[in-house]
Amino acid sequence: MIADRCALERKLQLTENERKWFDDPSSLPLLISAQMEKLIMPDDPDDPIRRQFVPDVRENIRIRSVDPLAEEEHSVTGRLIHRYEHRAALLTTDRCFSYCRHCFRRRFTGLESGPISTKEIRKAASYLKEHREIHELLLTGGDMFTLSDEHLDQLFDAIRDAREDLVLRLCTRAVASCPSRFDDKLMKLIEKYNHKGPLLLLTQFNHPRELTEESIAAVGKFLALSIPAFNQSVLLKGVNDSVDTLEELCNKLLYNRIKPYYLFQCDLVEGTEHLRVSVEKGLELEKELRKRVSGLAMPQYTIDLPEGGGKVILTTDYLDGREGDMLVFSTPDGQKRRYPAD
Ligand SMILES: *Cc1c(COP(=O)(O)O)cnc(C)c1O
Ligand code: SF4
Repeated sequence: MIADRCALERKLQLTENERKWFDDPSSLPLLISAQMEKLIMPDDPDDPIRRQFVPDVRENIRIRSVDPLAEEEHSVTGRLIHRYEHRAALLTTDRCFSYCRHCFRRRFTGLESGPISTKEIRKAASYLKEHREIHELLLTGGDMFTLSDEHLDQLFDAIRDAREDLVLRLCTRAVASCPSRFDDKLMKLIEKYNHKGPLLLLTQFNHPRELTEESIAAVGKFLALSIPAFNQSVLLKGVNDSVDTLEELCNKLLYNRIKPYYLFQCDLVEGTEHLRVSVEKGLELEKELRKRVSGLAMPQYTIDLPEGGGKVILTTDYLDGREGDMLVFSTPDGQKRRYPAD
């Protein structure tokens, strides 16, 4: 595990941008789990795992807002965000096993809030009880699995007590960054609550190398309980902004029974500027990727619009327009086809 400059310098030689971060550190702490540390190739300054976890002075480029999604405005209790009518997100903790430099919740992650309190759990549960229009609850953060087993038990119990009918999404990067967390004791607990209502696993793998034997085995423990797995990646410069990398990632996910769900455009969060890929380039990657992978291996390229605008899907439009009573389409390889308009 790496949590300070000394430990980091024992692992690798810092580049100038990395060294400068320590003179003027951004608010997101340095923390790299043992598992992620293992994956970083120390001799490669452009290593895609290093880019995601080793801080860089360019995080201090201050030109964007810190909460571009206006999550604070949509907070209904301190920890519950109700932005979409039928689903809500609960910030269970601000802690993670490793802090991703691209984190879109930097205003919250790794700062002071800590794990959710009993009182906050009670408040969220009573809101859920009153708002029957919510069908799905995202348990997120931070990473929910940094909570102790006892704390998780209390959280699941309160939520299930309030609402038996909720679909619960377990959002975690821990299968990638700390697969050993998913020991028999924790899996017994998950099994117990999986009997009480549907659980879904939402992972975050951004690069094919993160899908190690250990992380695949951790996801496999959920699959063995009939908990399906979906992946949300973030499109990141120098990490996965090439069609070859995305193709390998998506195929490897599908092969391991993890459905690629979203490929997120990086949010306009302060500190992530140097990792952001332009939407134009993202659309080109999406178009090329769609030609190469199956429909099941294809994630939806999605942008969370600023000022709380919500998520919209980005894709190439294959409908060019109308000629008389015919619609004109482009095929993926650039030919034209016609189809009756009505
Ligand atoms: C993304 C998100 C959801 C879930 O959206 P889906 O499109 O259903 O995956 C729910 N709440 C918040 C606040 C979100 O950001
Ligand atoms: S695991 Fe999620 S919440 Fe934690 S630092 Fe990474 S992106 Fe942010």
